[in-house]
Amino acid sequence: MRLAHKTALVTGAARGIGEAIATLFAAEGAQVILSDINDELGRDVAARIGANACYIPLDVSREDDWVEVSHYIRSTYGGLDILINNAGIAGILETSGPHDPEHLDIESWHQVHRVNLDGMALGCKYAIALMKTSSAASIVNISSRSGLIGIPFAAAYASSKAAVRNHSKSVALYCAQKQYPIRCNSIHPGAIYTPIWDVMLGEGEDRESAMKVIASEIPLGTMGEPKDVAYAALYLASDESKYVTGIEMNIDGGILAGSAASPPSRDA
Ligand code: NAP
Repeated sequence: MRLAHKTALVTGAARGIGEAIATLFAAEGAQVILSDINDELGRDVAARIGANACYIPLDVSREDDWVEVSHYIRSTYGGLDILINNAGIAGILETSGPHDPEHLDIESWHQVHRVNLDGMALGCKYAIALMKTSSAASIVNISSRSGLIGIPFAAAYASSKAAVRNHSKSVALYCAQKQYPIRCNSIHPGAIYTPIWDVMLGEGEDRESAMKVIASEIPLGTMGEPKDVAYAALYLASDESKYVTGIEMNIDGGILAGSAASPPSRDA
């Protein structure tokens, strides 16, 4: 019960990492508000989690939606203790692209930033207003390892996730300077096996061999699971991390620990 008496909002909670976070937070005693644009799936997940979960539609890129959700949270729960800004798109599937720096399609570029960056910034804006009366509040922004390195054919995604990392630090410092009871941190997942990978991995044997190639590039030798990210979010959301703000936490199986061009062993 590490989140007892806390109210948490999770965006993009209908599947993948958001679903795992919502499920774990409810098991740890939080009242969890799931939100997504996939209403049918989101409602199903909330119903499966049980009595301390509910679902509300929220397209994170639309400020009107945030206003409505804020009113709902204030009138139903009085305020908010935890926001997980999780909703995000890779863009290479959801928009027409291309997404490389030389040929990028500017509308696709904007669409990725509208969801990944504007959505997160709006979430922080409305959460701060709802969290001022909390005894200890926490915002966790789901960035990506791609926020720390370049991705040649998904440049908009990498740019948006880098901005998520940076804005998290501005929010952390702003809230500290204002003496609001609000911390803010970012999580940087590596390759986590969720539906976001479905099209990229293909089906059947193609999928198996694609996953082997990806796994061979990860020091811990396997893709991560959604719950690997959920446990990191749990720590940052709970009061156990009361002295932690403005940090970035990599959950990546060691990918960012090294470099492909490291010198070989003298024994090799
Ligand atoms: P996912 O399986 O695609 O789930 C994302 C959820 O967000 C989906 O239900 C999606 O709905 C929803 N969504 C999309 N656009 C939205 C919007 N405008 N407003 C609200 N919800 C929206 O993705 P995931 O793998 O769990 O990723 C979750 C987060 O982790 C994302 O921010 C992602 O960038 C980040 N991340 C993931 C990985 C990874 O390897 N999986 C690695 C690094 C970072 P639809 O299904 O209807 O689109």
